[in-house]
Amino acid sequence: MNHDASTAQAIVISAHGRHVVVETPTGERVHCHTRGKRSEVVVGDHVRWAPSGDQGVIESIVERKNLLHRQDEWRSKSFAANLDQVMILVAVEPSFGDEQLTRSLIAAADAGVHAHILCNKTDLPGANDVLQRLAAYANADVDVTPMAIKADGAQARATLMPLLQGKVTLVIGPSGVGKSSMINLMVPDAEAQIGDLSVALQAGRHTTTATRWYWLADDTTQAVPAHRTALIDTPGFQQFGLHHVSAERLASLMPDIQRHATQCRFYNCTHRHEPGCGVLAARDRGELGDVRLRLYRMLQDEAQESARRHG
Ligand code: GDP
Ligand code: ZN
Repeated sequence: MNHDASTAQAIVISAHGRHVVVETPTGERVHCHTRGKRSEVVVGDHVRWAPSGDQGVIESIVERKNLLHRQDEWRSKSFAANLDQVMILVAVEPSFGDEQLTRSLIAAADAGVHAHILCNKTDLPGANDVLQRLAAYANADVDVTPMAIKADGAQARATLMPLLQGKVTLVIGPSGVGKSSMINLMVPDAEAQIGDLSVALQAGRHTTTATRWYWLADDTTQAVPAHRTALIDTPGFQQFGLHHVSAERLASLMPDIQRHATQCRFYNCTHRHEPGCGVLAARDRGELGDVRLRLYRMLQDEAQESARRHG
């Protein structure tokens, strides 16, 4: 290896515990280790590293633009950094849960990452009903883009390319909605890219369940080269924990609630029973759906409960 600086900068394209694969600006992939336990490196991190034998050592993490966490019952764990956007893939079939979708959107808003909903399988009957349900999210300032990735790949590609161009995009979605189909459509050499990764890690075992980084190939029909366009695929529909979101902050992360909360008589209105509540008034006028209000209350309860427990 020939890196003239004592530390060089690179992007993390795979991270599994202390095993990290970085990609250098010239496209070289280096298996690195982190120093110590505390340095939690995630996919998308920009790091400084130094060669160490035929591998490397992560010296430091460049300050992150943003960081997404996922949650299980016990703890929150970061898993991707420096995203330009999150695409949440849902489908006509299997249908999506409003709660999970809402949690993901709030988590993205909380991290300061732009979120976008893609609705796949619009070739199926029932598409109109599902798009109708998704209109509530458009009302919350989230773009909703219909597509049929398998049924009309050319169209889906033409729709997706300009949305992805030049950006680092995290793709999430419950299983069965067409996420693999989307990755394969946009990254025809996905398997080869994963193969390279396994070589860099000198083992396949870390790569099956890990969050994956894919470069999109150049699309010569586009004015802007796709170079530096990346998709991050993370297995499963991550349960986004919102434990660090306070009840007070919650409304500000739900634009359709926030819009009306500015009309409340009391600055600390909980939008449950207070007189002069702008949110309840909007619900009564039919400008805010019951689903959204119900979810807001549920998450509000959860945030209060969490604050009680954690002090
Ligand atoms: P994943 O579990 O999210 O990775 O989903 P897959 O990509 O494996 O797709 C799940 C199923 O949905 C497969 O049977 C696909 O053929 C099907 N599928 C994907 N896109 C479309 C589409 O545009 N229309 C229809 N009808 N089925 C699709
Ligand atoms: Zn109110």
